[in-house]
Amino acid sequence: MIIAIDGPTASGKGTVAAGVAKHYGLKRLDTGALYRAVGLAVLDAGGDPAEEAAAIEAAEALDLAAIDEHRIRSSAVGLAASKVASISAVRAVLRRAQRAFAADPAGAVLDGRDIATVICPDADVKLFVTASLEERTRRRLAELQKQGEAISFEDLKAQIAERDERDMKRADSPLYQASDAHLLDTTALSIDAAVAAAVAIIERMRTA
Ligand code: C5P
Repeated sequence: MIIAIDGPTASGKGTVAAGVAKHYGLKRLDTGALYRAVGLAVLDAGGDPAEEAAAIEAAEALDLAAIDEHRIRSSAVGLAASKVASISAVRAVLRRAQRAFAADPAGAVLDGRDIATVICPDADVKLFVTASLEERTRRRLAELQKQGEAISFEDLKAQIAERDERDMKRADSPLYQASDAHLLDTTALSIDAAVAAAVAIIERMRTA
């Protein structure tokens, strides 16, 4: 079974993806981590994430097994990720890695921005996870504070809104809800409730 989960930053899609993967014993790919790792590699090399040649080189050199899970989570890397993600040639390189992951006959859970629309259009179940901008800012702020990063609520909210806008307006693989994706609004849901709601949708689809 392939489960495709899309949604904007800090919507809860990663948490839902991890919970659903655990529930069904499936492996999971956080595809945002790939774009973040490319963004980080460009920044580490002193380059500009919006510059095509540097971003493509970093995407081609990406080693999935060597992604620094801690360093890719900063807000600066999130912004860099959304810039490299606007470059079609970068998306083409990362698309291959994502499709290879999804080709495993055992099935998989993938989460990102274009999973249901581009990477796995034939997924068995598609979810579009969302939450209000205020709630998403609160969640991301708590995560960043835990990592020791200081940023104000208002600055972070503006940064998230900027990333949303870039993700939804880019020409190649923009973020939108696929026509056959189920909407899951996690604004008022706890983690457990969000995962339970996702599992309920998946079960409904499986037995339909
Ligand atoms: O999900 P996360 O916030 O970690 O993703 C970081 C950035 O990577 C997003 O803002 C988006 O620009 C990009 N991304 C993408 N397509 C995906 C996953 C992430 O464009 N499938």
